[in-house]
Amino acid sequence: MYDSDIIIVGAGPAGLSAAARARRIRTYNLIPASVMVISNYSPGGISDWTDVRMTGDGWMFEKGKVRDSLMKDMKDYSIPLKNEKVLSVEKKDDLFKVTTDKEEYWSLSVIIATGMRMTWNEREHFGDKLFGTLKGYRFMEDHFEKLCEEEKGKTIIFVGTHEIKKTLEFFEDINQGRMDVKRVLDEGKNIRKYETFEEDGKEKIKVITKNDEIVGDHINIDFESYQLSASTTDIIDCEKDENGFIKTDRRGKIDKGLYAAGDVTGTPFSLAKAVGEGTTTGLESYRYVFKKKFGAEAPVFAFYPIHKDGEPTYFEIPDLKESYRPKLLGSYEQSGEKIVFRECEMEFEKDILQLLKLLDGEHTLGEIKESCEKPEEDIEKVIEELIDAKDLTLEV
Ligand SMILES: Cc1cc2nc3c(=O)[nH]c(=O)nc-3n(C[C@H](O)[C@H](O)[C@H](O)COP(=O)(O)OP(=O)(O)OC[C@H]3O[C@@H](n4cnc5c(N)ncnc54)[C@H](O)[C@@H]3O)c2cc1C
Repeated sequence: MYDSDIIIVGAGPAGLSAAARARRIRTYNLIPASVMVISNYSPGGISDWTDVRMTGDGWMFEKGKVRDSLMKDMKDYSIPLKNEKVLSVEKKDDLFKVTTDKEEYWSLSVIIATGMRMTWNEREHFGDKLFGTLKGYRFMEDHFEKLCEEEKGKTIIFVGTHEIKKTLEFFEDINQGRMDVKRVLDEGKNIRKYETFEEDGKEKIKVITKNDEIVGDHINIDFESYQLSASTTDIIDCEKDENGFIKTDRRGKIDKGLYAAGDVTGTPFSLAKAVGEGTTTGLESYRYVFKKKFGAEAPVFAFYPIHKDGEPTYFEIPDLKESYRPKLLGSYEQSGEKIVFRECEMEFEKDILQLLKLLDGEHTLGEIKESCEKPEEDIEKVIEELIDAKDLTLEV
């Protein structure tokens, strides 16, 4: 027994695209997989910080738009999002164990989409007391010069990986001792929070780490240091490149059932790549899970036209082993029109209708209830029947 067919770590563009793609299979004549996303901060990832361009100015998303589009699918497809920090992902026989700061979850497949740095609540302060450096942009030089002159005598905290020294040298050349400089090394798991507060009528900002609080007037997150050295890949033991980014094949596979997508796989760092790898791994993970459960290829045309003579098709789905039923199905409560599986909500009528549509025409919740002797109390029976008929088996 396990919690969800697919667990996705990270709710940036890569993770959310993977979730939507893995789950949207419902439009095919196939049974959808259960998908769950775990992320340590609010959805959207780095793409939620500013306006982002998919290609150029012609295809630009205003701040928040990427997140809103992807979150619409999360809601419509009833994909639960857990706000927890993943500490490790380990393979245990046939399953994966995902350990967070709160719980332990089990799944058949995992997609790692943790980005290049551990985004925390920095988005709340971005553009105000906190900013980011990406050298190569000429304005950085002007920005530093202006800051050092205007904030003479104040403190700036640089946050980044050990590769931050390159940016510090660049800053010191401009600074020439005008501002005090502090440095916080982000070792992947040590940064907890950024917080502003008032001191003697002035606004300050601090970095709260596992063991310390570092106070200053400004924070600079050095993205280049993260690009040179991954900080989010330490949750999994797998093959990585010389900069610590996860190595995959061209379909995002690390190993059987295990995938990675987005910035966590290394350069180039872009929205288009994150979404592309997210959708690819979402489908790949779905195919893996389907094969594991039903012993057959999932025909997800037009993404992968795979029909060959003699191959089983989706018209006959083989028996599902008890061990491949997500355990969330075993514990639920009914509240109004909603079924609550632990913390995960699904819209009862809509989801069951969706499933029944896949079979033999439309049924209403009323019809389902009428088919039971004691409608209200017998919802459990309906669900069991749907599970037995393999309609609800994967739909958590
Ligand atoms: C200032 C800035 C501007 C940019 N502008 C553009 C642009 O205009 N066009 C463009 O194409 N690209 C742009 N990018 C790059 C683009 O935003 C990223 O490439 C993209 O967001 C990567 O998506 P991702 O899902 O791989 O990672 P991220 O967006 O970083 O998301 C990763 C997610 O994983 C979560 N996470 C990390 N570790 C854990 C953990 N242990 N447990 C749980 N959750 C975890 C994080 O909280 C986050 O939600 C920009 C980047 C920056 C910094």
